[in-house]
Amino acid sequence: MAHPMNGTLNCYLAEAFEFLGIDAEQAFLLSLPNREVRCELPLRRHDGTLRVFQGYRVQHNRSRGPFKGGLRFHPEMDLAHAQVLASLMTWKTALADLPLGGAKGGINCDPHDLTLTEREALTKKFVRQIACLIGPDTDIPAPDIGTDERVMAWIYDAYSGDFGDEPAVVTGKPLELGGSPGRAQATGRGVARLTEWAAQRHGIDLAGARVAVQGFGNVGRYLCESLARQGARIVAIGSSGTTLYNGDGLPVSRMLEQAEAAENHLALTDMDVRAEQLGVDAVLTGDVDILLPAAVECVITEQNVADIRARLVVEGANMPVTAEADRLLRERDIPVVPDILANAGGVIVSYFEWVQNRQRMSWSEKQVSDGLDRHLARAWKAVSRCGAEADLSYRQAAYAVAVQRVDRAMRLRGF
Ligand code: NAD
Repeated sequence: MAHPMNGTLNCYLAEAFEFLGIDAEQAFLLSLPNREVRCELPLRRHDGTLRVFQGYRVQHNRSRGPFKGGLRFHPEMDLAHAQVLASLMTWKTALADLPLGGAKGGINCDPHDLTLTEREALTKKFVRQIACLIGPDTDIPAPDIGTDERVMAWIYDAYSGDFGDEPAVVTGKPLELGGSPGRAQATGRGVARLTEWAAQRHGIDLAGARVAVQGFGNVGRYLCESLARQGARIVAIGSSGTTLYNGDGLPVSRMLEQAEAAENHLALTDMDVRAEQLGVDAVLTGDVDILLPAAVECVITEQNVADIRARLVVEGANMPVTAEADRLLRERDIPVVPDILANAGGVIVSYFEWVQNRQRMSWSEKQVSDGLDRHLARAWKAVSRCGAEADLSYRQAAYAVAVQRVDRAMRLRGF
């Protein structure tokens, strides 16, 4: 069964196909995943019980280069999720103009419910199942929700056991194992960069702006850090358990230190900060200038969109706004910077990591952050130009640019 996100994605793609005059046959080819895999992953748990998990990998499009996309460990992960997120990666890598395609995968497990040893065993079983499908020239996984650099290190190890030392098979690795400086921070910093540019264009002064961020994971944390450094007041941060609120601004760097000290397993509810604890949805509907959903998908919907009070929305997460909510925000003249542009920083620095691994060289942090800025600025310019010329929203323009690039590559290569 298709995932509800599928309807949202199809709607954005249909608009792009129509705008670009792409015929139905080609539109079908552009929409369809190239390959999908589901595998069984039996695990004997530490208490002796047997659990059988499901692993997934969907490879959507490789017209512009090897498949690329994250692995998600989450109880609700399934094939339908992977299909939509893999397609999203195709458009994201194309918009960032990287020589890569799109993929996504994961396991339907709750990583917090597994011991470290169980997580390692499960990850390595999964790699054994998909080893023939991934590789530095075919498909390069990366972190996503519920996976981190340690999981990437296990993937590197399991793959290299069979194929010889190959760090370029996976990105988001620890620095000591060929990871890139700046990779962990890249997505959040990139979202902050796009927020800065969009705020400037829409007359919002970032210094002193009131900001709400949903999610304090990999993306949310560094996003908050970057924006706070530019003088923004992060008044609300939300997670699956609560919304922390402080009208004077939350102490982001202290929260970051606490999260890092606890190896990112500290819930917002357990943080030592002066803040009110509000309901989970309060982060979305507060009186702020900028709202950044950076946690999970489909959180701004037809049901709650009327309650959004922000003047600008920037998507840190993948698909946090449904198509219907997106249309209603457009009607209210609330600009939305879409995921495939705003959170592309992660895959851009993943690409840099892959290049460094292939060259067996490492870049300085400055090289990485200059390169990240350059790629993001180019994508922002392409979207802005297309949007201005054709009177399209940021999202419509982003899809138009991305789809046109993939369409062109497919036509040139043939099939
Ligand atoms: P993460 O697992 O590190 O953090 C997720 C955060 O979301 C946590 O703070 C968690 O408490 C919160 N959360 C979970 N369920 C929630 C719910 N129902 N309501 C509110 N908050 C909830 O994940 P991440 O890597 O930060 O990814 C966040 C989003 O960004 C995802 O959509 C992911 O696909 C996307 N993304 C991540 C990267 C990356 O490099 N990590 C790159 C591009 C896009």
